Amino acid sequence: MSKPVLVVGGGPAGLAAAHSLATVGKECVIVEKEDRLGGTPILSGYAKLVPTGEWAKDAIGGMVDRVANEDKVKIVTNATVTSFDGTPGNFTAQLSNGDSLDAEAAILCSGFSHFDSVNKPEWGFGTYEDVVTTTQVEQMISSGQGVRCPSDGRKPQRVAILLCVGSRDRQIGREWCSKICCTVSANMAMEIREELPDCHVYIYYMDIRTFGLYETKYYWKSQEEFKVKYIKARIAEVTSDGEKLIVKGEDTLVKRPITIPFDMVVHAIGMDPNVDNPEIAETFGIDLETHGYIDVANSYGAMGATSRPGVFVAGSATGPETIDDSIAQGHAAAMAVLSSGKALKSA
Ligand SMILES: Cc1cc2nc3c(=O)[nH]c(=O)nc-3n(C[C@H](O)[C@H](O)[C@H](O)COP(=O)(O)OP(=O)(O)OC[C@H]3O[C@@H](n4cnc5c(N)ncnc54)[C@H](O)[C@@H]3O)c2cc1C
Ligand code: SF4
Repeated sequence: MSKPVLVVGGGPAGLAAAHSLATVGKECVIVEKEDRLGGTPILSGYAKLVPTGEWAKDAIGGMVDRVANEDKVKIVTNATVTSFDGTPGNFTAQLSNGDSLDAEAAILCSGFSHFDSVNKPEWGFGTYEDVVTTTQVEQMISSGQGVRCPSDGRKPQRVAILLCVGSRDRQIGREWCSKICCTVSANMAMEIREELPDCHVYIYYMDIRTFGLYETKYYWKSQEEFKVKYIKARIAEVTSDGEKLIVKGEDTLVKRPITIPFDMVVHAIGMDPNVDNPEIAETFGIDLETHGYIDVANSYGAMGATSRPGVFVAGSATGPETIDDSIAQGHAAAMAVLSSGKALKSA
């Protein structure tokens, strides 16, 4: 009898992989380290997703329900994989909860970690309560509390969103673009203006990367319909005059220094490699690429192959990815596992 497929991580990529496998009658086991499925959009309480505008709890919650109702899918939460030995078609995994399981192959869907803004101390996070991250604003919106200054609960009258916090920043060893934060920020700016029509929202940027079709729906719409102001700038620091937060830097279009007061400053944080990646690489005997994400072998062959045969990867474990792309990669990795299993049988 063929063995199940081990799926590590129950976020969008892992849920898509498990769903694909179950659809063709293939058993799989999702091993998720947190206490529930859904991945970062659920665990971090995201609000409405781009580009669909659906609430994360509905969109990703629907994916969780679909998998939870599949009898071909076994779900193990609060667990990680501590060892993974064997050869393609014939692996054994030990889990941190003491269980062990046989697996035909593994798909690593272990995702990313949010950039920790304390690593950019000159931009005020951790020093001033009203300097927050996009994740915190997502939570304010999804909880129904609305966008408020954490220091005293007041409605902000002026909000600055700083892009590329923890991305495209060689000084702190993060030169990659996190792909989604320009679009997420433009969407968030519109949500703030919708909830608080008197609030002025400014986005400080190096370049705007609302790629593909997002240009019309987010970049232009936020300016033309929602009057969000975009300022091309290099930010030096965020301080406080005791009453307001002060954003200081240089407007790089007019080449003039800027010093502007705000009630709230939002860091559009980037997508770091999962902090677990060194351990995952050791356990599964796979390579990481130079930034610390899981290295993907040539995708013109098997989609999502890693440096170890029988171990596949999908989603933001491979680098910054959107939810749509993570889902597509999850489905593709499932397909790659199925075709590699077929190849093994006919060998
Ligand atoms: C602020 C912000 C807002 C965003 N908003 C959007 C948006 O609106 N639309 C969009 O397309 N994208 C958005 N993204 C990107 C989105 O979060 C990712 O595309 C998506 O979460 C990737 O899915 P994933 O399954 O690859 O990883 P994740 O969602 O990170 O899921 C990985 C799962 O693996 C688990 N895991 C981790 N390590 C282990 C381990 N060692 N063992 C077992 N389990 C493990 C985790 O607990 C988690 O459940 C946003 C990102 C940020 C930072
Ligand atoms: S998507 Fe935009 S905010 Fe995010 S890293 Fe790239 S350029 Fe910066």
